[in-house]
Amino acid sequence: MKKVLITGILGQDGSNMAEYLLGLGHQVYGMMRRSSCINKQNIEAFEDNDNFNLVYGDLTDEVSIDKLVQEIKPDYFINFGANSFVGCSWDMPLHVFDVNTLGVIRCLEAIKKFHPQCRFYSAGSSEEMGDVDYSPQDLKHPIKPRSPYGASKAAARHIVKVYRESYDLFAIHSILYNHEGLRRGEEFVTRKITKSVARICTAIKIKEKFETLKLGNVHSKRDWSDSEDFVKGVWLMLNQDEPKEYILASNETHSIKEFVEKAFEAAGIRGLWSGEGMQEKFRLYQENTILAEISEKFYRPAEVDLLLGDSTAAREELGWKPEISFDKLVERMVQYDLSKLNG
Ligand code: GDP
Repeated sequence: MKKVLITGILGQDGSNMAEYLLGLGHQVYGMMRRSSCINKQNIEAFEDNDNFNLVYGDLTDEVSIDKLVQEIKPDYFINFGANSFVGCSWDMPLHVFDVNTLGVIRCLEAIKKFHPQCRFYSAGSSEEMGDVDYSPQDLKHPIKPRSPYGASKAAARHIVKVYRESYDLFAIHSILYNHEGLRRGEEFVTRKITKSVARICTAIKIKEKFETLKLGNVHSKRDWSDSEDFVKGVWLMLNQDEPKEYILASNETHSIKEFVEKAFEAAGIRGLWSGEGMQEKFRLYQENTILAEISEKFYRPAEVDLLLGDSTAAREELGWKPEISFDKLVERMVQYDLSKLNG
């Protein structure tokens, strides 16, 4: 049994990682920030497991990180804690850097000082690739972030490498392309779409009025996978002989428009996109009913138009392979949101 400290425990990846490791029989310490209003929805399934411990800490507070590493002496430290929403990173760039970049230094310092044999993983992001030069992107692709979030993760990537090489730590920062699932936050476009699809389809069924789904740039393309597949890849990376970095990705790319079509389809509704620019709309097939439309409000100051990862190395060298396809991911999320809405 290994001791694993996980930051971001209440988020999608932290909770999926914890559940996976508890299933393997490990002792998990999930770090959460103090708040007067805690949302424990993502950890409900395993909160009572005897091998699970919730601990307080904050990536912006080195005293708390030092204390946890000193007291727990974890075998592994997995950093999934982040200010992770690209869209609002322009509104709070300092906080984004404090958590996503300085936070990583705080973790590395704590490990270096108190438990250097601890293996460290920090989540990197395809947002580091930014306005890409070529597709699919591999680890040689230049770092060209387009948002404070992307820049914060790029800086974290460099500092992990510096600590690994300077202090001989097992520390890796591996790039994860977009990953979603049943625990995805509602601010991300996939979950926003699947929740709206559940709401709209239910209203149509009972012949009630509904508000349309409002989206920003529906032309951007993303390489989406399921977070449950990624946590297994992260664990494989942490258990290699040498601290080598890999990309985890589905090796496919799909537009937001395509996600919308598939999501409605998964709920039994056929629709069609028409119009251009701000007038682009998604309508019920052969009817005028509008299901989704464009709102300027959701456009970003700068956009990453296309992400497509190359995870060949992880597949060949780690034996990792995603089990959940794009179609399956969309279907799972829609069915889950429909069942939550309709009991
Ligand atoms: P990201 O790839 O980490 O930024 O993940 P998101 O799910 O937040 O966004 C994915 C893409 O969807 C980006 O290109 C967004 O500009 C685009 N998008 C279009 N409409 C929306 C929206 O209403 N909300 C969000 N979050 N993204 C949107």
